[in-house]
Amino acid sequence: MAYKAPRGTVDILPDKSSQWMRLEQLLRTISAHYNVKEMRTPIFEHTELFNRAVGDTSDVVSKEMYTFEDKKGRSVTLRPEGTAGIARAYVENKMFANPEKLQKYYYMGPMFRYERPGNGRQRQFHQFGVEMLGVESPYVDVECMVMAVTIVEALGLKDVKLHINSLGDDESRDAYRKALQDHFRDSLDQLCHDCNERFEKNPLRILDCKVDNDHPLMSSAPKTLDYLTESAKQHFEKVCELLSDLEIEYVVDTNLVRGLDYYSHTVFEIISDDPKMGQGATVGGGGRYNGLIEELDGPATSGVGFAFGIERLLIALGNEEDDEEGIDVYVMPLGEEAKDLAIQITTMLRANGFSCDMDFMGRGLKGQFKSADRHHAKFSMIIGEEEVKNETVNMKENATRSQENIPLENIVEYLESHMEGE
Ligand code: AMP
Repeated sequence: MAYKAPRGTVDILPDKSSQWMRLEQLLRTISAHYNVKEMRTPIFEHTELFNRAVGDTSDVVSKEMYTFEDKKGRSVTLRPEGTAGIARAYVENKMFANPEKLQKYYYMGPMFRYERPGNGRQRQFHQFGVEMLGVESPYVDVECMVMAVTIVEALGLKDVKLHINSLGDDESRDAYRKALQDHFRDSLDQLCHDCNERFEKNPLRILDCKVDNDHPLMSSAPKTLDYLTESAKQHFEKVCELLSDLEIEYVVDTNLVRGLDYYSHTVFEIISDDPKMGQGATVGGGGRYNGLIEELDGPATSGVGFAFGIERLLIALGNEEDDEEGIDVYVMPLGEEAKDLAIQITTMLRANGFSCDMDFMGRGLKGQFKSADRHHAKFSMIIGEEEVKNETVNMKENATRSQENIPLENIVEYLESHMEGE
């Protein structure tokens, strides 16, 4: 076969899609419990949005974006993440003017990054993310983290840990940035090319480097928590206190910086130690960001959010057998006249809320029974010559194997009474 899906993309076939739907439904239900509303933003945006919002020193923007010109020569980009679009929509639609200051949104859908595909890493992947905008309070940081933890708990994921850290406010970050530069200045020749670039533009990102990850300078680097201002420290202490009060287990991980330009105060990740994921795989992460909405010409607004990779959640869940949803009725016509009746009946059944299918191939009984089985039909409805003549159908309940002749006008009533309590 000549055509293949582009590298790094995956077809989600029907045997997997019900697992996806269940996960998506769970995420929607938990969002409703947290009073978080869905926001759907475009799959592509002006490239400038990501340059501004995500920051052009990030790997995502500098190396991984699917950027192209449209027919009018405008540069557009397939979204590599969800926060920028939500923030743009929040400003453009003046959501900040809502008297309800705290606005909580979720998004779910495909994201695109030109990365080297690997276990749990794709070029088109899916994220579920949450943004809570408008209120800068440690309580909202905790609301966000508790929601993330609730999700992994509801999924029954084992071996996952909440890692948290604080980057503090602008003043703390400035002091920390200087300390990092002092730490790395004399050893720049030992670090990769990218780290050398990061040194001036955003030294925090050096700690995120995938190449120099194990360099001894990384573990001996100064820690953010030592550079927090008094008020940033109080913010972080309150976050830790609230998490403990709620009996949420967490680890303070001073190496966690999440280098995106806009993060401040709390940053967190949910990390899995499940061997299926590879050591220390991040299932999701997020944090507080303070400058983002202003960066997009909105009023000064604080936000906190997180994103989960849906594929990674599914890997962590394991390849549980997909118990395929069956249909209610498989309609089995024998002969041309019966087929005419069968299409009438399937249409009528669907209009009455039943799921059903029929044989379109004019096969014999044996082949049709096999299909009823493969579709996990609760009932097989046989329509032979006799039935056509008598205006009845022969209904077989597959679980009990009981069989009955039913007048056409009683089909719905029969099904309703036999499916009660389902
Ligand atoms: P990030 O926006 O980089 O913080 O990513 C948030 C989450 O999205 C990660 O923790 C992963 O679970 C997931 N993720 C990021 N990049 C990819 C990718 N290329 N393929 C699959 N999942 C990804």
